[in-house]
Amino acid sequence: MLSPIHPDELAALDRAHLIHPVAPWRLHEQRGPAVLASAKGAFLTDNRGHQLLDAFAGLWCVNVGYGQESVVQAATEQLRQLPYATGYFHFASEPAIRLAAKLAELTPASLSRAYLTLGGSEAVDAAVRFIVQYYNATGRPGKKHFISLQRGYHGSSSTGAGLTALPAFHRGFDLPLPTQHYIASPYPYRSEAADDAAVIAASVAALRAKVAELGAQNVAAFFCEPIQGSGGVIVPPVGWLKAMQLAAHELDILFVVDEVITGFGRTGPMFACEAEGVQPDLMTLAKGLTAGYVPMGATMVSEKVYAAIADAAPAGAPIGHGATYSGHPVGAAVALEVLRLYQQGGVLANGQRGAAHFSAGLDGLRDHPLVGDSRHRGLLGALELVADKASKRAFDPALGLADRIFATAYRNGLVFRAFGDHILGFAPALTFTESEFELLFQRLKKTLDDVLAMPEVRAAM
Ligand code: PMP
Repeated sequence: MLSPIHPDELAALDRAHLIHPVAPWRLHEQRGPAVLASAKGAFLTDNRGHQLLDAFAGLWCVNVGYGQESVVQAATEQLRQLPYATGYFHFASEPAIRLAAKLAELTPASLSRAYLTLGGSEAVDAAVRFIVQYYNATGRPGKKHFISLQRGYHGSSSTGAGLTALPAFHRGFDLPLPTQHYIASPYPYRSEAADDAAVIAASVAALRAKVAELGAQNVAAFFCEPIQGSGGVIVPPVGWLKAMQLAAHELDILFVVDEVITGFGRTGPMFACEAEGVQPDLMTLAKGLTAGYVPMGATMVSEKVYAAIADAAPAGAPIGHGATYSGHPVGAAVALEVLRLYQQGGVLANGQRGAAHFSAGLDGLRDHPLVGDSRHRGLLGALELVADKASKRAFDPALGLADRIFATAYRNGLVFRAFGDHILGFAPALTFTESEFELLFQRLKKTLDDVLAMPEVRAAM
């Protein structure tokens, strides 16, 4: 156990030493950390004793809620029995093997092989490396260009951050690479397309045009999230994913679905692909796989891609991709128990029931003067805030609207996530009860009202 430490002293250590992911480093030094100390069910408690309803499942990962004893037990038993086993060469552990088989069973039929990683970025990176191998193996070494969406997020590895199209992930990092290209996101609220069919047609046309521009002989794959998460919870029309898969296959490029957020019941079914009968060539997973209890991700690969790589390697020669912790037995044991909770434990079904409360709560705020759009699928949703509803004019970033909302929500006992200055994202645990949804929307409404009452905000409208 750690010796007790005063919150101020801890904050000083944080400011001096801890580099925070995706944070403005200097601003963080001034502000200091919000230190989370414990959690149970849907609630977090910070180290000053303030209780918060977590409407974001950690970072869209704690799908089973906090404090699931059976998960703690699975981890503890595995830590005692075999805390580590390499997956290198021909070694393995029982949980890693059983998890790979379970994922092959649960994911679309096109996917039969699992490479287990430490998280989503590593899963995306593995997917890219496997795709490069695949085209070299099949005698088409020119196919090395990747296409993704302008608001897509695919992690922050050296290559994945270039498939990610958000400016902060490129600035100063010499990205994108010359082989990374983007097409417009399907963004119904801000699209000029007349209806859903037109939004889908515009995306298909954009993919075709980009492949034509680059030359199909040079294009490797199209990467997309079924719903773009970090880009602002952009929910495309139903049918979009399927249309993109058909177009990719027609264009002879691989179709990679990044289900790091949308997997494991977040949008209703186990995977968003399932809802549209999509059969991707590769799929990346993380977050809900272990519900965030320990780190783990996976790259799912089709038999076609796997076999081409396997057969092209010189006999007996290793394929040089791997990490010390690939297929970590504790991660795999946790994942197996979390998957059991989704299915036999009723968590997936509870999430599906909860979606009605969630969508009603978000849509119920459409009339609020700050809200321009509400969008959602399953338990993934967002409110887009506007200064003027008719013109959809955004607030001036100088106002710091998201910061004000976040701080007010924190005081009101609620956490969620802001994207840019104007989109509020929500991803509650699949275990949320009806009364927790009520509390969420009560606190969210109060937060929006409190912010609306600020004279500077009113003046900006
Ligand atoms: N892909 C998507 C769609 C994600 O949302 C994320 C993380 N937010 C990643 C990849 C990267 O995952 P990780 O943060 O576990 O590396």
